[in-house]
Amino acid sequence: MRETGDINNRHQSLLRSRQLSDDAQPYQQFLSQLPDEKTIQAGIARRRLQIQAVIGGTDQDWSNWKWQLKHRIRDSRILGQILGLTQLEMRRIDRVSQVYRWAISPYYLSLVDEDYENSPIYRQAVPDLRELLPGGSLDPMNEALTSPAPCVTRRYPDRLIINVTNQCAMYCRHCQRRRNIGEHDLHACREDIARAVEYVAQNREVRDVLITGGDALLLSDRMLDMLLNKLYHLPHVEIIRIGTRTPVTLPQRITPELCDIIRKYPPIYINTQFNHPLEITPESKQACDRLAEAGAILGNQAVLLRGINDRPYIMRRLNHKLLKIRVRPYYIFHAKDVKGTRHFQTTIQEGMDIIASLRGHTSGMAVPTYIVNAPGGLGKIPLMPNHIMHMDADKAVLMTWEGNIVEISNKKA
Ligand code: SF4
Repeated sequence: MRETGDINNRHQSLLRSRQLSDDAQPYQQFLSQLPDEKTIQAGIARRRLQIQAVIGGTDQDWSNWKWQLKHRIRDSRILGQILGLTQLEMRRIDRVSQVYRWAISPYYLSLVDEDYENSPIYRQAVPDLRELLPGGSLDPMNEALTSPAPCVTRRYPDRLIINVTNQCAMYCRHCQRRRNIGEHDLHACREDIARAVEYVAQNREVRDVLITGGDALLLSDRMLDMLLNKLYHLPHVEIIRIGTRTPVTLPQRITPELCDIIRKYPPIYINTQFNHPLEITPESKQACDRLAEAGAILGNQAVLLRGINDRPYIMRRLNHKLLKIRVRPYYIFHAKDVKGTRHFQTTIQEGMDIIASLRGHTSGMAVPTYIVNAPGGLGKIPLMPNHIMHMDADKAVLMTWEGNIVEISNKKA
């Protein structure tokens, strides 16, 4: 009898297993159509040679973050020479740059493949005429009204932001903080940073401080060390977070010296912004490995962007690759209605569909929280597909990830 039971169980398990394998097939097929890693890396190496032929620099220079920063590409003719842009394309870039500045690190530009117009890297980096379309606000979050001290943004009871610089390795075309970027690279002055720290010191309910910008890791090692040290020694500050896109756009910034600083002030949480699987390269992996080995806890805050990552399988691939480089997918932000970025916006339904396509189909570790920021700085709203069909004092009727309806007791024991 027992043997018959075992055989039946095995039979059922095999059937279920077959079903699950079938569910995985469309994604497997998607993966099989992607270029392999060797081909991608060969393309990046070719592009790097083209860049070096135009702007110069040795291999040693290439791995130096200060050289990368100094040699950011911000002239349409230089970009044109590297990518083979038409005169019209260069004129369009010049037109946009009269309104919004742009700059691309040589490293990030090396990730643009031959079909540059369709490259998710190019689209995030190179000005587009649609940025000049009307609509949107420069400050949809009313951040200007939430700054009780220089460099400080405070929207929540127990945490706040210190903005230390307006400089970034690249000026992302979808930037949600465009109004901070301004016309020139500018770090906050020592006095303003000191006043921000003083504000934190005087508000003992603040237990979590996010250092961001611009890009927080574009501060010098010395300034960063000084700021972290001051915050670390405030007894009520339990954790420090750093917002940076350098692991994506300037991984050379993550030097052993920087990691020695990070290591001194645990726990440090670092949130970065990978938006597309092609941004995960051997260099960005090394940057994340170094940060993880210095004790930093890494999370990713992707922005959902039309034409970049608004397809469910792209997001799944991104999240899987992030986990492999020790970065936990944390948030997917719905793009805010920021002036000059409307062409990147998706619908909320598209974001929800992406979450539904992840939930259950892959591990919970690879399912970030989808966030809509309430206009006017009223806070984050997490959204997820509705799994509650009905709930009362006796029972809850719930839907599983495959759409099965189940009923469970909701009575107090
Ligand atoms: S790195 Fe961040 S702050 Fe800087 S331009 Fe890109 S999105 Fe904006």
